[in-house]
Amino acid sequence: MAKASIAAPTAMPSVDFLASSVFDELGMERDPDNLYLQVIDSVLHAADILELPHHLKLILAQPKNEVMVHFPVRMNDGDYRLFKGYRVQHNNVLGPYKGGVRFHPDVHLDDIKALAALMTMKCSLVRVPFGGAKGGCKVDPRGIDHDELMRVSRRFISAISGIIGPEIDIPAPDVGTNAQTMAWFADTYVNIAGSVSKHDAMRVVTGKPLEMGGSAGREKATGQGVVDILVEMLPGLGLKTEGARVSLLGYGNVGSWTGRLIAEKGATIVAVMDHTGAIRNDDGIDPTLLAEHVAETGGVAGFGAAHGETKTGRHTQAGAESITEEDFYRTPVDVCIPAALEQMIDVEKAGWLECKVLAEAANAPTTPQGERLLQARGIEVLPAILCNSGGVTVSYLEWVQNKQSVVWDIERVDTTLNKHMVLAARRTLLARHRYECDMRTAAYIAALDQIGKVYALRGIFP
Ligand code: NAD
Repeated sequence: MAKASIAAPTAMPSVDFLASSVFDELGMERDPDNLYLQVIDSVLHAADILELPHHLKLILAQPKNEVMVHFPVRMNDGDYRLFKGYRVQHNNVLGPYKGGVRFHPDVHLDDIKALAALMTMKCSLVRVPFGGAKGGCKVDPRGIDHDELMRVSRRFISAISGIIGPEIDIPAPDVGTNAQTMAWFADTYVNIAGSVSKHDAMRVVTGKPLEMGGSAGREKATGQGVVDILVEMLPGLGLKTEGARVSLLGYGNVGSWTGRLIAEKGATIVAVMDHTGAIRNDDGIDPTLLAEHVAETGGVAGFGAAHGETKTGRHTQAGAESITEEDFYRTPVDVCIPAALEQMIDVEKAGWLECKVLAEAANAPTTPQGERLLQARGIEVLPAILCNSGGVTVSYLEWVQNKQSVVWDIERVDTTLNKHMVLAARRTLLARHRYECDMRTAAYIAALDQIGKVYALRGIFP
């Protein structure tokens, strides 16, 4: 496929926020700060440009199923605590529902709905045969101990076991969950699901540990996908990965892998911020040492003091200096990569940012108002459904390997992932040029195009 140039279109269409009549038809109150409405508004805007049939807009504006569960767990002190959890299944026209489970004290239904809708769009954009879902449990995984966390994980998956399954809905890790959580999910599910093959029932989750049928490359997959997208997209924006100066907001799974992998491509990490603080080193922060520091201490704070020496010549003797949140955003870089939580880049932060490209590794990190300001300031936004779809792509590859009882090596996983990412980038670029729109709208158009075609072929039951 010919590589399209990605110079900014001359006319950006102006959009009225939450203007669609679909919100009235579905009786949805217009709250501009509501994450779910923000996501659906962008999807509907793209659907309008694509001239998707009206009934498809109605279908996509609401999830198919929203399940809320409450379950008691005995804590180590002998007391019982009641936990709240959600599983939202947005759409399954392309295949079984698929999406991560988040453990966080601030999990809310509308956020999970938004993340589920993003999964529908993501799977379609990278053309993996899955629909969109998301789960969440209101719990602070850092605030309870290992055994308590195991009991919460087991009770949560058992509470939603009736609506998930290897061919129905397949959870995966997200914020606050990891391969260990997936091991507890899988073990609990196979013990209660009544499946003929307990081994096959393990396919109910992806992101499992390698020893339990996880895929090579799944842990780094989202970060790998972010880097694949940047390698593909930056040249069209007059930049190169090699030599790019990068800042990272969030240094968990996605942020730390993105940092390590982009540094391997010759980029320099100059600033990092997480929930513990912000650090900067204009000569470059060693991303591997920083990952080790975060694993040991729980955050990036204190990295400068803790790492007086580095092994590589590219980095200075001091690890980094501690800076304020505002200094982090104002650090001049080529690419800023938000890889933490939703809605962090609001109008204020969008005004502070000194970058040429904002690559959304986190889900929905930019508010619509923030995005408009970034556009007005000439900062290109590479949208989340494009940048972070590497995670679900390798989850799909894990599911395929489990289904066939085969194990792929890392080269095969990385090559297959790269093909999905590059094609998703090119689909987005083609839509951007065809419809003369911003990159987020283009990514949604490329995703909706596939969903619209499948609905047209299948029709609406009965
Ligand atoms: P994680 O829990 O491993 O890391 C989250 C990071 O965010 C941590 O570094 C944390 O310190 C930081 N953070 C939290 N609150 C913050 C605050 N107030 N200020 C600054 N930093 C803060 O989670 P993750 O798996 O890396 O996910 C990060 C984002 O990527 C989320 O939006 C998630 O939905 C998205 N995502 C994850 C995957 C995946 O495979 N894990 C796939 C696709 C998208």
